[in-house]
Amino acid sequence: MSRTKVVPIPVMGRHNINAYLLLGRRPVIVDAGVPGSGRKIHEQITAHGVDPGDVSLIVITHGHIDHFGSAAELHRLTGAPVAGHVADLGPFRSGRAREPYRPTGLMGRLMARNKNLHLKVEPVEPDLLLRGETDLDDFGIEARVMPTPGHTAGSVSVLTNRGDLVAGDLVANSLFGLVPGRPANPPFHDDPLGNLASLRRMLALDPVRLHVGHGTPLEPDRVRRWAAREHRRLSRLQATGRLSPRAQDDTA
Ligand SMILES: [Zn+2]
Ligand SMILES: [Zn+2]
Repeated sequence: MSRTKVVPIPVMGRHNINAYLLLGRRPVIVDAGVPGSGRKIHEQITAHGVDPGDVSLIVITHGHIDHFGSAAELHRLTGAPVAGHVADLGPFRSGRAREPYRPTGLMGRLMARNKNLHLKVEPVEPDLLLRGETDLDDFGIEARVMPTPGHTAGSVSVLTNRGDLVAGDLVANSLFGLVPGRPANPPFHDDPLGNLASLRRMLALDPVRLHVGHGTPLEPDRVRRWAAREHRRLSRLQATGRLSPRAQDDTA
């Protein structure tokens, strides 16, 4: 067995938006950043000693444009196949995130008005359509793709055999990484309770660290404590009818 190393690839700021490079027998990229980041990711992986032509797979954690915005470009630059979950195929094919965005708090409510969030990006057709847990051994890394629905229906995480969890937007840092190491919700979740259930399922697998799309790596124990508080908060919202299911939201 070879050790799989997780290398952050900052796409915006020092860690406001991250893609990741997973190094095993072959390199795998997780996430592709906002539109126009293909070159930047290409240059950074080259700087890490990777021949972009060796990349065996580009895994997209979900159908938000800060994660798949440059997937088609990165596919052209590397020739690597793109993997995405079937439940987010609509956004991948249309180049638009599923609307409306459902804010998790004040940050999301403010951000939802930002027109950049509603842009159409270059669509991407996944070469590998993920449905369930998927072993990445054939792609040269000791890791599995784990479906972690909730943030979006097609959200996935990648768990290495060393216990590194590359978690997309399953959890984030406070204020996009301005408060490094402090767990927080990303600005939006389609299904907050579903996301929390996915997060707890991943924490139960005892990851050693969580590598997130927005911010610095998170310590699992800190995330566990945060998840317990978040569970109480969501339960209160649900009890008072302030946590409406997506179907009601769509018609609002
Ligand atoms: Zn997202
Ligand atoms: Zn994101």
